[in-house]
Amino acid sequence: MRVFYQADQLRHDPQFFLMRGRVVPCFEVPQRATALLAGAEALGLAIVTAPVTEPKLLGRVHTPDYLAFLRDGWREWAALPQPGPEIVPNIHPTPEMIAQGGRVGTGIVSQAGWYTADTACAIGEPTWASAIAAAACADAAAAEVAAGARSAYALCRPPGHHAYAGRAGGHCFLNNSALAAAHLRQAGAARVAVLDIDSHHGNGTQGIFWDRNDVLTVSVHGDPNFYYPWYVGHGEEIGGAGAEGCNLNHPLPRGAGDGPWLAAIESGCAAIRRFGADALVLALGFDASADEPLGFLDVSDDGFARAGALAAGLGLPTVIVQEGGYAVASLPRLLGRFMGGFGGG
Ligand SMILES: [Zn+2]
Repeated sequence: MRVFYQADQLRHDPQFFLMRGRVVPCFEVPQRATALLAGAEALGLAIVTAPVTEPKLLGRVHTPDYLAFLRDGWREWAALPQPGPEIVPNIHPTPEMIAQGGRVGTGIVSQAGWYTADTACAIGEPTWASAIAAAACADAAAAEVAAGARSAYALCRPPGHHAYAGRAGGHCFLNNSALAAAHLRQAGAARVAVLDIDSHHGNGTQGIFWDRNDVLTVSVHGDPNFYYPWYVGHGEEIGGAGAEGCNLNHPLPRGAGDGPWLAAIESGCAAIRRFGADALVLALGFDASADEPLGFLDVSDDGFARAGALAAGLGLPTVIVQEGGYAVASLPRLLGRFMGGFGGG
């Protein structure tokens, strides 16, 4: 298996993160990517530099106005009187505002709240370059699989699965997994499945494919009553009109551990078989690990190896897209265990 990586991903270095009313160091640090790269090198995997270009299909996944905000917003923010170093919203439109005709304004403060779901996606000067670099890795890995490789690993950072078509959130700006799925569809796969085993619900991916019956989205994650993204990720969210059953959520209780986590992944794999997917995007987060700083699911290293084996057992062409995982020192080891189980190590 080849690994797609691009060093521009390291430039995004968010300084703002709000946790329980305190501003604390952000968990989503550039060292995550270098740790994963070291892990991939230790496995002897070939590292390929992804092209430094904006993927052609980005406009299939994200709206043009949102892409313009991500690309150009920081310059407008920096021109405000006494700006902070990063775009951080101080208001979001409420459902009442939207219901009564609320719309995004022309000013950057209005746009900051409109185009973000939360305060966990601070946008600095280099954020666009890093987000594009991560998307380019997902795109190049999808191209590799579309061209006949059994699998490819997109070492993406920042992660992507909380990004909606028109909104950033939860450390995510461009939805790398959705882009990989869009690429596989475009390249000829009639039905694509996304299996998201990050410990957080893949709400952005769910949102992007909500009305689509050609893409099955499956997410195994911590119960949103107690864990990010707090509002969605429940089992009854099954997809939009005409796509009922094409979105499957498996929320798990705090401290679930290997047994329930692997059973949920197995159930997801069974659904992917029933769906008749031609290709798979595996949204690979490592934050289900027991080592995770804001841990919830307490999965062991063996659990990740077994998850890799379950994904490989589908026998589908597979793009593995890196999502979260914030226990930096553990990331090389967790990647090694997952790849060992998948058979790509
Ligand atoms: Zn996560």
